[in-house]
Amino acid sequence: MELSSHVLGRWLSPASGGAEIHSAVTGEPVARVASGPAAMADVLAYARKVGGPALRKATFRERAEQLKKLAEYLNAHKEQLYELSRHAGATKMDAMLDVDGGIGVLFVYASKGRRELPASNLLLDGDIEPLTKSGNFIGRHVRTPLQGAAVHINAFNFPCWGLLEKFAPAFLAGVPVITKPATVTAYVAERLVRLIEASGVLPAGALQTVIGSTGDLFDHLTGQDVVSFTGSAETAQILQRHPVIAREAVRFIAERDSVNAALLAPDAVPGTPEFDLFVKEVAREMTVKAGQKCTAIRRAFVPRGALAAATEALRARLAKVAVGDPALENVRMGPLVGLSQRGQVLDLVGKLRQECELAFGDPQAFEVLGANAQTGAFLPPLLLSCASPMSAKYVHDVEAFGPVSTLMPYDDLDQAMDLVNRGQGSLVASVYTYDGATAARIVQDIASFHGRLLFIDRDCGAEQTGHGSPMPHLLHGGPGRAGGGEELGGLRGMMHYLQRTALQGSTARIASITGENLVGATS
Ligand code: NAP
Repeated sequence: MELSSHVLGRWLSPASGGAEIHSAVTGEPVARVASGPAAMADVLAYARKVGGPALRKATFRERAEQLKKLAEYLNAHKEQLYELSRHAGATKMDAMLDVDGGIGVLFVYASKGRRELPASNLLLDGDIEPLTKSGNFIGRHVRTPLQGAAVHINAFNFPCWGLLEKFAPAFLAGVPVITKPATVTAYVAERLVRLIEASGVLPAGALQTVIGSTGDLFDHLTGQDVVSFTGSAETAQILQRHPVIAREAVRFIAERDSVNAALLAPDAVPGTPEFDLFVKEVAREMTVKAGQKCTAIRRAFVPRGALAAATEALRARLAKVAVGDPALENVRMGPLVGLSQRGQVLDLVGKLRQECELAFGDPQAFEVLGANAQTGAFLPPLLLSCASPMSAKYVHDVEAFGPVSTLMPYDDLDQAMDLVNRGQGSLVASVYTYDGATAARIVQDIASFHGRLLFIDRDCGAEQTGHGSPMPHLLHGGPGRAGGGEELGGLRGMMHYLQRTALQGSTARIASITGENLVGATS
């Protein structure tokens, strides 16, 4: 596959050279970044001058209709995305999370846009504010679309969901998108963009794709643009420190590393449904997408008295996970995205093992079905156990982005909550308890360190949506280490792309602008 950027309304013609991308399963080359770098000032200008005006010709509701049409088209053509995802190591289930998950975001935004947004490009914000005694001079906040571009930089692990979950809110807001997929899985994202183009649903300039380097793009940003980044904390900091970001006050949303926790509460002793649900969730989060999920459970805390039972139960569950070629029916976990990623994970596991024991899995000896363990980027699930989490450092600090999780004991609930918060800001924590007072206490202590808290118990165990699955209706992002970003969250995710402005004027003037009936509104 020769991968090209789609910019300025066309696919750039293939050039010689360019980075090769290898199959996660076999190590063989599967794609090449074939297009040379585009002129980024022109790409931004095209978004601002062609994409933006075309988008703003439609209303919020009309764009919501377009999102729905796009979602339906992609739904009918998604098989080819599943096929390609296998090269990246995805099982059918992994690919569905990425592909169907992404299409699901489009459907949710389409539905919210049609039901909750006006047939205009002016969004009212809050209530009328009377500013004088007569009530004839009032204030009102409104939001309108930014007139720049949304620059989306994505991580490798969700080439479809990552692109679509950022695209949908920006598009609905009326802001054109320039998306840059991570190179190692760019062949899946590029195919998605080809499908989007083929759908014919989007106006020209609404979506451009840069495969490979973003060149000098950041040098040309302005305060009307938004950067939304997902990836490592290291890259986020490099980009966030770009002088233009500070000088132009460019909005910068970051979703980065997170050392998420699962907390088995003191009441959830072995034998309770909550204990079983905890074990199931930890094992699932370790193995889905081979643990390459920003939301995966990295630290699992249990009461000291339950440590032995939790270790045994997890061992038994993980022992059933067949690792191998994701194309095989019986394989539950595919490889990591590539050999370099596996190397990084093994290095970080080495660091964790300075303070942890290996409780399950041996990276040197494990069975791989239908593929070669050396040329493919395979690892077994690796469960670590840390006896002294209060004095440990790496375990709260290191995100081994693979099928790796650490089980740890705590002595009482206060200590457990202290340990959870040592992640220094996470995307998500899940709590396993059937006690309302415990749940309420936990929220008071750990919510400010988290973007999402999931309470799992016997009443919702069968239908809960999963520790690791961000829902388009709910916030995705977390404070501190997790980057401080807020994506999705229903229409909240759209607000990054709208400017809030305070209007002041006579009641009649404000009514003429907003179309509201304000007669008597302030008396
Ligand atoms: P990464 O190496 O930081 O890369 C992320 C993206 O940044 C890629 O598209 C990469 O492009 C691009 N990039 C790198 N240097 C750049 C530069 N100087 N200018 C512009 N773009 C640049 O991260 P990754 O390895 O893809 O992803 C793994 C990490 O992402 C993990 O640490 C994980 O926790 C985090 N993650 C977080 C979330 C979340 O929502 N919080 C979700 C998923 C992943 P190239 O591929 O071309 O280098």
